[in-house]
Amino acid sequence: MTIADGLRSIRERIATAATSCGRDPSEITLVAVSKTKPAAAIRAACEAGQRAFGENYAQEMGDKARELGDLPIEWHFIGHLQRNKAKLVAPIAACVESIDSEELAIALDRRALRPLACFIEVNVGGEASKSGVAPEGIVPLAQRILALPRLDLQGLMTIPPYDPDPEKSRPSFRELRRLLDELNDALQLECPLRGLSMGMSHDFEVAIEEGATVVRVGTAIFGERT
Ligand SMILES: *Cc1c(COP(=O)(O)O)cnc(C)c1O
Repeated sequence: MTIADGLRSIRERIATAATSCGRDPSEITLVAVSKTKPAAAIRAACEAGQRAFGENYAQEMGDKARELGDLPIEWHFIGHLQRNKAKLVAPIAACVESIDSEELAIALDRRALRPLACFIEVNVGGEASKSGVAPEGIVPLAQRILALPRLDLQGLMTIPPYDPDPEKSRPSFRELRRLLDELNDALQLECPLRGLSMGMSHDFEVAIEEGATVVRVGTAIFGERT
C-alpha cells in the first residue's frame, strides 16, 4: 500500500466514524505521525494533500523542517519535551500537543515567533511511566498558559494505557472529555476550549465517537516503525 492509499483509507475511516455518530468530519484534524520516517515519506504524504505532521523528537523535527522547508507543512510536536529543547521546537511548530508544566509553557512562549497552538497533556490513566499532568493539575496549568501572550490553548491531549482492543481506550477518552468540560466550567471563557487530541492508529474511531477533534495516526499511514 502506498502512503497516498494509506492516507485515503484513514480519511475515509475518519469520515465514516464521524458521520455514524452525527459529527461533521471537517471538525476532525488528522495529524500524520511521521516520527522515525524519512523526509521522502513526508513529502509523499504532503503531495497527497496532508498538511499536519506529528513528531516526537525536537532534533528530528528540526532536521525534517529544514529539509522540507519548501512544503506547506504544519508541524505538531507530540512527544515529551524538555524545557531546554523549547528553543528548537517553538520557532518551527504550529502546535505543541504535549505541554505538561508551567516551566515548559513559559519557555515555549518566550521562543515562539508567532501564536503557537498548544494542548495540555493529561495522564488520565495515572501510569507512573507516562508524562502529562494529573487531572488536578489541569486548571492551574491552563490558567498560567492563558496568561502567556503567544500560547494559544486549544484543549487537552492524552495517550491512554496501551491495549490492542480499542474499546479499552474508551474510558480514557470519555474521561478526557469530562475533564475538558470541567476545565471549561472552571475557566468560564467567552469562547470555551474545544480541542481534544486523542486516538492513534488502533483506536482513533473510538476516540472520534468520544469527541476527538485531533487524531494522531502514524503506523496506519506510514507502516510499522523499525
Ligand atoms: C507515535 C505516536 C502516535 C502514533 O501512533 P501509531 O500507533 O503509530 O498511530 C500518536 N501519538 C503519540 C503521542 C505518539 O507518540
